[in-house]
Amino acid sequence: MNNYQGKCLCGAVEIQAQAPGSVGTCHCSVCRRWCGGPMFAVHVDGQPQITGEEAITRYASSEFAERGFCSQCGCNLFYHLKPGQFSAEGEYMLAAGILDLPDDAVFDNEIYTDAQPGWYRFADPASRTRMTEKEFLTSLGIPT
Ligand SMILES: [Zn+2]
Ligand SMILES: [Zn+2]
Repeated sequence: MNNYQGKCLCGAVEIQAQAPGSVGTCHCSVCRRWCGGPMFAVHVDGQPQITGEEAITRYASSEFAERGFCSQCGCNLFYHLKPGQFSAEGEYMLAAGILDLPDDAVFDNEIYTDAQPGWYRFADPASRTRMTEKEFLTSLGIPT
């Protein structure tokens, strides 16, 4: 188990959590709409420590779960299975991108695979555009 630190874009919300070095994705249509693509998530062991709860908006996406985001910067933070019917304590799946994950974290699970759209794959390398940060900014005329 690892101790991870996370925060939203503006820093109003900070989250600390224990979790394995395992990253997953959810292909369901609700995550796709919420994230703009698959949700990359880290399943927390126990309960995370959340600072800045007053900045979080919790949206009930079903009767048993809610999704939290920062009201100030809009950053998606977590999927939360609320305490009750399916989990006595409740469970948090943090948006992977808010965490300082090590490069050796393993991307090893996916759910709702039957809902994955066909376009969730890169075109073959010869026919796709790939740019570094510097190349992209330069293409926009932004000095680097
Ligand atoms: Zn924020
Ligand atoms: Zn989902």
